[in-house]
Amino acid sequence: MNSLEILKPDDWHVHFRESPLLEKLVPETSKVFNRAIVMPNLIEPITNSKIASLYKKKILKYSTNNPFFNPLITFYLNDEMSINELVNAFKEKIIFAAKLYPLGATTNSSKGVSKISNMFKIFEKMSEYKIPLLIHGEVNKKEIDVFNREKVFIEDHLTPICKNFPNLKITLEHITTKFAVNFVNESSSNLKASITPHHLILNRTDMLEHKIKPHYYCLPILKKEEDRKALLTAAFNENQKFFLGTDSAPHDVQEKENACGCAGIFNTINSIETLTQLFDDNGMLNSLENFVSRNGAIHYELPFNTQKIKLRKNSSPIKFENFLTIKNLNIKIFRPPFNVFWEIEKVEE
Ligand SMILES: [Zn+2]
Repeated sequence: MNSLEILKPDDWHVHFRESPLLEKLVPETSKVFNRAIVMPNLIEPITNSKIASLYKKKILKYSTNNPFFNPLITFYLNDEMSINELVNAFKEKIIFAAKLYPLGATTNSSKGVSKISNMFKIFEKMSEYKIPLLIHGEVNKKEIDVFNREKVFIEDHLTPICKNFPNLKITLEHITTKFAVNFVNESSSNLKASITPHHLILNRTDMLEHKIKPHYYCLPILKKEEDRKALLTAAFNENQKFFLGTDSAPHDVQEKENACGCAGIFNTINSIETLTQLFDDNGMLNSLENFVSRNGAIHYELPFNTQKIKLRKNSSPIKFENFLTIKNLNIKIFRPPFNVFWEIEKVEE
């Protein structure tokens, strides 16, 4: 197959950051994707309607290359929040979902939730109003090995949340382990999971062998090859429980190539091309549309996009740019360790 047409994709997990990054990042997403769930871990996290609607307005200002683009804003759950604020923001359609970051689990999560059981009253309301709960599923405890944090989170926290709130719609975001794949497969359809391109493509050996590659460092951290294989199987699965969330998370190159380097991979610019190559290499091109354009919409009970994108397979590999430069910042663009021959030929408007 040398050409492919699929429904326009959605990105169910993206970081647009703030000015001056935001202005350049938004159009990179909106030119290909029709919807994006936007993460709230800003320097001033999104904890009320006012911040949320201002942020949404800013995003819409820079997504004019796609009049259909819909940024779905998330509310940052925290210890001091008001339930009413959350419910009202949801009712007024200012926010789309609420995000749970365990305290300190990732970039700008220092206002996250310190004790998850304290959130149960809020989960009850979310369940009642059908507000989706998005979870960064890792514990953040010194004594827990960094490679085990997703598994321990699922055992200690997600299991009781699912049990206590069977009607709550939950997304376990950017899953990284075979354990998580199995858990989601065995759970009710209220729990589904997003997967990033980089976790489908890389394992921890890619990051750590010979010389350390800071641009492959992300959170949750890359896992073993057997985990990556389980994620691939999940992405190809016809049960539609898994969907794309790029978790595209840019940092300036100096913050990555640093004695104390930041976590995050910037992949928006080539994520669909890269995934198309990955699915093609695995003989699974037929599953691509489900993973990038359908499964997420089904989970969030949103209509499918009606426009399409057309991809073409070239005879020589695509040459991607190395950096996206924004003022004095240089953001390294994710590069998979294989050649990508697929290119987006046309995006329907
Ligand atoms: Zn993220």
